[in-house]
Amino acid sequence: MTDLTRLTLVEARDLLEKKEITAVELADAHIAAMEGARGLNAYITETPDKAQAMARASDERRMRGEAGPLEGIPIAVKDMFCTDGVLTTAASHILDGFVPTYESTVTANLWRDGAVMLGKTNLDEFAMGSSTMTSYYAPSINPRRRTTEPEADLVPGGSSGGSASAVAGYTAIGATGTDTGGSIRQPASFCGIVGMKPTYGRCSRWGTIAFASSLDQAGPFARTVRDTAILMRSMCGFDPKDSTSVDMPVPDFEAALTGDIRGLRIGVPGEYRVEGMPAAIEQLWANGADRLRQAGAEVVDISLPHTKYALPTYYVVAPAEASSNLARYDGVRYGLRVPGKNLIEMYENTRAEGFGDEVTRRIMIGTYALSAGYYDAYYLKAQQMRTLIKRDFDAAFESCHAVLTPTAPSTAFKVGEKTDDPVMMYLNDVFTVTANLAGLPGISVPAGLGADGMPLGLQLIGRPFDEETMLRIAGMLETFVK
Ligand code: GLN
Repeated sequence: MTDLTRLTLVEARDLLEKKEITAVELADAHIAAMEGARGLNAYITETPDKAQAMARASDERRMRGEAGPLEGIPIAVKDMFCTDGVLTTAASHILDGFVPTYESTVTANLWRDGAVMLGKTNLDEFAMGSSTMTSYYAPSINPRRRTTEPEADLVPGGSSGGSASAVAGYTAIGATGTDTGGSIRQPASFCGIVGMKPTYGRCSRWGTIAFASSLDQAGPFARTVRDTAILMRSMCGFDPKDSTSVDMPVPDFEAALTGDIRGLRIGVPGEYRVEGMPAAIEQLWANGADRLRQAGAEVVDISLPHTKYALPTYYVVAPAEASSNLARYDGVRYGLRVPGKNLIEMYENTRAEGFGDEVTRRIMIGTYALSAGYYDAYYLKAQQMRTLIKRDFDAAFESCHAVLTPTAPSTAFKVGEKTDDPVMMYLNDVFTVTANLAGLPGISVPAGLGADGMPLGLQLIGRPFDEETMLRIAGMLETFVK
């Protein structure tokens, strides 16, 4: 029998449909793989019993002829999504023992369509980071290794690094992530898989732990663009419980993968050619553009003049919103409580012990940026800059259908690296934050290898709510490395 964990979602779907395999067999293979790959620390919580029960129910539905679009497909869930009856931590000590009594809309959509839950994956604490090193539960490990230094443990990227490690390490067919500044796309690039952030408003944020509400967006990880498109269709959709969720029909994203990109215009922004970018990334980017041209697309130079302000803008807006969102963790309503002599001291003790260094830093920066006297200088300025960044894209999209850039400025780095210099860590997001600031869809597709043999992704940024064109181009991009 072939190894069931190596199947793509499409292959698994076909075998399940033909009744050549059962959902229970598929779940069992992944449960065994999860156990075998514990060294990757991809999961905070494994839910094998739940997986088996859901797989049994799935097989029964199929017998009754009631199979959904994801019937029997085993999925890992980033531990940022609340899951009914299952520990949900955001990789933070402050959520110790928090078991939600409700299900996030995105995961509920997956289960509605027949998917099977394998467990909750590791991440940077409250999704703040680019490596999973800020997790209270220790970092996840990238399943891939450098050819030049095979003994080194590398990070899977972050914040959704556990999900990326699970999919790249064959312990899940697909996974959910959240992307506030690049947390789906950067780990996808580091692990050699596909990761996508939809347009802001496509996926409901209800039941997803909030980091920066105006930037947060859920999205899928998978090993192919087609698998990503299939997961997208189930995850997206209008939700009256999230006021920023958009009431638009969800397209059949899979049908958009026609393989024909003739006549499409791809913009290449000069401003993304940052100083010190490794030659391998420059090369990969140029190759990607060439290949798209050969496939019949037109590659055009575009300008996004405010790009250099994107990272500083993000690192004002995101901490500001985080400082407000994280005010709710007070030792009363959720998780950890550290007693004190009075109520105020209990708050202080709980928050001091419950939050890690990076989260504390963000709360302090955010509180400062929002405080009287500084609000106009920082937060208001950042919001104005955000509008200019959005306008850059509006103008660019008059002459192109999608923008092509590298996903990240490097391949995966070693566990423990860059932790003593937060700014070095923040630079990981230099190519991805713009899509969040402008609310645009973005996808990272494996495009080649760096000098160290580690994967590198190329990013496509699409027009708002035109994920279909972006996916179609991504589908073409992916064929170049196969
Ligand atoms: N790495 C970025 C940050 O630390 C992005 C995180 C994210 O997208 N959740 O904020």
